[in-house]
Amino acid sequence: MSFELPKLNYSYDALEPYIDARTMEIHHSKHHQGYTNNLNAAVEGTELEGNSIESILQNLDMNNKAVRNNGGGFYNHNLYWEVMSPNGGGKPNGELAKAIETSFDSFENFKELFSKAAATQFGSGWAWLCAQTDGSLTICSTPNQDNPLMPGVGCGGFPILGIDVWEHAYYLNYQNKRPDYISAFFNVINWDVVTKRFLERK
Ligand code: MN
Repeated sequence: MSFELPKLNYSYDALEPYIDARTMEIHHSKHHQGYTNNLNAAVEGTELEGNSIESILQNLDMNNKAVRNNGGGFYNHNLYWEVMSPNGGGKPNGELAKAIETSFDSFENFKELFSKAAATQFGSGWAWLCAQTDGSLTICSTPNQDNPLMPGVGCGGFPILGIDVWEHAYYLNYQNKRPDYISAFFNVINWDVVTKRFLERK
């Protein structure tokens, strides 16, 4: 059973004007498809074949660049599509809202810290909101396709929200204005999914 590119729950133009259709189409059908194909090629015939992506990343040999880059790319983009929605935006409720207030004092402060982590990641990478096993939340950024599931990477824990800050995620619409893309991203965050990931954290 090989890894498959997930279908999106919305059309490529559904996140406009925040994320444009052309960027979505290339990002999903070319970039994510590429990571998926390369991951399958990297694990085929090895002891990793048949393992879940979470298990592969949690037990990753960080020197295995093909699996690190493409396994990370496969997982990270799965999460990215999942945490966005045309009906997104606003603020979280319930347990996640409480956890954000406990860990960051307020939603506004969380938003500022998360945006800063995303804006200041030098070059390509991601910013994350992660749930730790005690229910606390942490923010970090990671280079390339690394993520906090990998041994010793970033803030550790279970990623419940992630933003792709590679230029391919925003350049057609925002050019060099990464902060504008980060600000727009908050209008499409699917807090129901982020909350579900928080409650199911492993
Ligand atoms: Mn990407």
